[in-house]
Amino acid sequence: MKAAAFDYHAPESVDAAVALLAELGDEAKVLAGGQSLVPVMAMRLGRPEHIVDVNRIEALAGATRSNGTLRVGALTRHRDLETDVLIRDSVPLLARAAPHIGHFQIRNRGTVGGSLAHADSAAELPAVTVALDAEIEVRSSRGSRRIRAADFFVSIFMTALEPDELVTAVHLPVWGRGCGFAVAEFARRHGDFALAGAACGVQVDGGRIVRAAVGLIGMGGVPVRARPAEQALTGADAHGADLVSTGRDAVAALDPPSDAHGSAAYRRHLGAQMITQALGRALAEAQGQDRNPGQSQAGGTA
Ligand SMILES: Cc1cc2nc3c(=O)[nH]c(=O)nc-3n(C[C@H](O)[C@H](O)[C@H](O)COP(=O)(O)OP(=O)(O)OC[C@H]3O[C@@H](n4cnc5c(N)ncnc54)[C@H](O)[C@@H]3O)c2cc1C
Repeated sequence: MKAAAFDYHAPESVDAAVALLAELGDEAKVLAGGQSLVPVMAMRLGRPEHIVDVNRIEALAGATRSNGTLRVGALTRHRDLETDVLIRDSVPLLARAAPHIGHFQIRNRGTVGGSLAHADSAAELPAVTVALDAEIEVRSSRGSRRIRAADFFVSIFMTALEPDELVTAVHLPVWGRGCGFAVAEFARRHGDFALAGAACGVQVDGGRIVRAAVGLIGMGGVPVRARPAEQALTGADAHGADLVSTGRDAVAALDPPSDAHGSAAYRRHLGAQMITQALGRALAEAQGQDRNPGQSQAGGTA
């Protein structure tokens, strides 16, 4: 099928884009990488009357770092999360998550802002932002605001964005020394959305876990932050942490979707395994850095 007819707008500044969104309201959709919106339109699951293509707005792309925070522009492509040295060194979890997103053709076009606004709970970047307590920066003609990731994802494919708001960037904390990060997920075929997954970060100091962040992929209607697992790990001996029971306990109370791809029980089983795997890899990296602080990946103190 082909998309229904629409009017096309290509603003060249954020001001022009938000003015259009204010004028067009519910009838407009922002086009970023088009990797989710175009299939939706082609299948006529959505019929926006106006498309506001933000690809010409250079100010929306790229990353900057200051005061312990990395700001990643909404139009930054998934591929840049893997290749941009500033992003990779500042928030390694973004670089670990990106290779799991579809195929390289999708990563060349898909954007950070598009992935967050689309709000698929099986997507990697929403889980990373929830785990790291990121803030999503949004703009409208009324001004700008920042929304905590935990408040941004409201329900399946629903966010706290108003129809006239544009995602302009995401702000993520840069962790200090002794950190490790990993993403583990299970998909039936390479490039498919994961049935279940985990995006984890840990920080170790003097052999103890001093910080833990665990975001879950595909384990509910929104990306889930596994706070009980984080609490169980924080303060524990990095060598002796029981990662198997941490994974099992983290998913026990969750109610993941049950569909043709797998039952809720199967997803819980996978989720527990993915948490254990991701935490194991993150801890190994963090312990290496704790012993050899000169190799800190997060680029020094936050
Ligand atoms: C075959 C296939 C496999 C895929 N596999 C994965 C996967 O494994 N993991 C994964 O995470 N994703 C996957 N994707 C989706 C891909 O990552 C998309 O790039 C992403 O979901 C949307 O980003 P986009 O830039 O393409 O957004 P678009 O498709 O352009 O837009 C998506 C939605 O976000 C809105 N939007 C976009 N940008 C903004 C903005 N700045 N402000 C406000 N609203 C905005 C649009 O209006 C639209 O509603 C896959 C896609 C395909 C086609």
